[in-house]
Amino acid sequence: MEAGQIQSQPDTTARHRVGLEEGWWQERVPAWSRVDAATFHDHAWQLRNGVSRPSDLVPLVGDLVPDGFMDDLAAGLRIAPMCIRLTPYVLSLVDWTDPGPDPIRRQFVPLASEIEPDHPRCSLDALEEQRDSVLPGLVHRYPDKVLFLALQVCPVYCRFCTRSYAVGKDTGAVEKCSLGAGRDRWERTFEWIENHRGVEDVVVSGGDTWLLSSAMIRRIGERLLATAHVRRIRFASKGLAVLPQKILSDPEWLDVLAHLASEGRQRGVQVALHTHFNHPREITSVTRRAAQMLFERGIVVRNQSVLQRGVNDEPGCMTRLVRGLSRIQVQPYYVYVHDLVPGVECLRTSLAEALDLERAVRGQTAGFNTPTFVCDTIGGGGKRDAHSFEHYDRRLGIAVFRSPVVDPERPFFHFDPMRTLDRSVQAAWRCDRTQQEMIHSVLDQAGFGWSH
Ligand code: SF4
Repeated sequence: MEAGQIQSQPDTTARHRVGLEEGWWQERVPAWSRVDAATFHDHAWQLRNGVSRPSDLVPLVGDLVPDGFMDDLAAGLRIAPMCIRLTPYVLSLVDWTDPGPDPIRRQFVPLASEIEPDHPRCSLDALEEQRDSVLPGLVHRYPDKVLFLALQVCPVYCRFCTRSYAVGKDTGAVEKCSLGAGRDRWERTFEWIENHRGVEDVVVSGGDTWLLSSAMIRRIGERLLATAHVRRIRFASKGLAVLPQKILSDPEWLDVLAHLASEGRQRGVQVALHTHFNHPREITSVTRRAAQMLFERGIVVRNQSVLQRGVNDEPGCMTRLVRGLSRIQVQPYYVYVHDLVPGVECLRTSLAEALDLERAVRGQTAGFNTPTFVCDTIGGGGKRDAHSFEHYDRRLGIAVFRSPVVDPERPFFHFDPMRTLDRSVQAAWRCDRTQQEMIHSVLDQAGFGWSH
């Protein structure tokens, strides 16, 4: 069956119940001109009709895109660390008549023509999550927090995923590491958390928890709520931004999340949803409705954006995103300076650009709705406030951070994209000897000395 083809007709009262705008997808994607709102806003239809191959895209947008686009995409996919997967909803947010600069396309669909060589210090797991894993899929970096990677799949795959080493299907460039089968691994994870009384904060991520069934969400939530020392549980999901229909049309799933949040409140434990919007155009009538339903059920929602060149690196855009999220009661919590991820150098900004953007955004709205700009530092130092570097040499594009809780003696880094550096500095980066000399000179300036 072709992507976009209607496979079933869900309850036609759904359209009435959610009260949504009609039809932008019908105009944007002619192949969906007969897909009505009840169908389009059914999460199961969205998942069944996802696009995961270039050949799925051809019947949907092949007549709209510029000449050469499909070849560019196919070539991009051959070298990308992430496969593609788009929900029809995300697909309908892209202007396919001009996909080159489109900020939604840039996040999810790779084009060979825009790919830049990786930074010389780039690696597949630059944040060293695997090194800090106490079990497969259980990262323990901060004393009171663990990151539980419950699954390895998502409804939509982001080109820039920092977990490209494990998330999604294998690509021509990356063979994904397997975290192992679900049930036993989960059981070992729960036991580890139960045996470590210092762990108060559990992030349940992946992959995307939107794809966990209501029974799975219940199992994880109830097991963690039964662990007395766990005080905060966060379900991490990009779903509200890429498949908000889940909230509108999967009442059992929403009920389970609301039940866990309510149970948590009674026990003094916060159960929150952490989501991932990157551009104001991702806030639609559907997300507004879904966010309102979460708000009415008392579920705290926070947002973590990834700063991306050509997507949200302009002050007006980031301000609209922050204000738009605040308006739907999603707290803009973090903006991550883009990590070093293979194949997406074209999306990275320099730290200086991130700092300028932060200055422009701060003050645009209430402080509690102003995101903290953070660097998830290379080498596993964890998230550091982007302003908190020990030393930043803008000419060489090297920032050095300390992370006293992780390791007070070890330096952790951010490296700016090569494109932002002078030609002579770019040349120095390409030579191992001069690369080391540059890093050591910045370490000296940062007070770390040559031993590193
Ligand atoms: S939704 Fe999250 S885990 Fe999934 S591909 Fe995007 S960034 Fe990675």
